[in-house]
Amino acid sequence: MLELILYNTQKTKRKMELSRTQKFVKWFSSKAKFEKIIEESKQWIFKCECGKTTSIWDMGGVRSGAKGNPKIRLKCPHCQKVSWQIIYKEN
Ligand SMILES: [Zn+2]
Repeated sequence: MLELILYNTQKTKRKMELSRTQKFVKWFSSKAKFEKIIEESKQWIFKCECGKTTSIWDMGGVRSGAKGNPKIRLKCPHCQKVSWQIIYKEN
């Protein structure tokens, strides 16, 4: 899983690991905007048939300013099963 601890003060330098996609988005976003993107990406989730929900952010992805419910082939990080998942936004 990704280890995400973002924007702490420089005094407490902590580890931050982002996927390539997330790094790419971060590069083109302001700090405030990127924080919003993180928040939104965490609201987009899918529920595997094993019953666990995972966010797009947890999958190393980014989804922001988007509508609709795309169907994406994903590997559940909990049961490792690859299947088509509908992405929906958690309220
Ligand atoms: Zn699963």
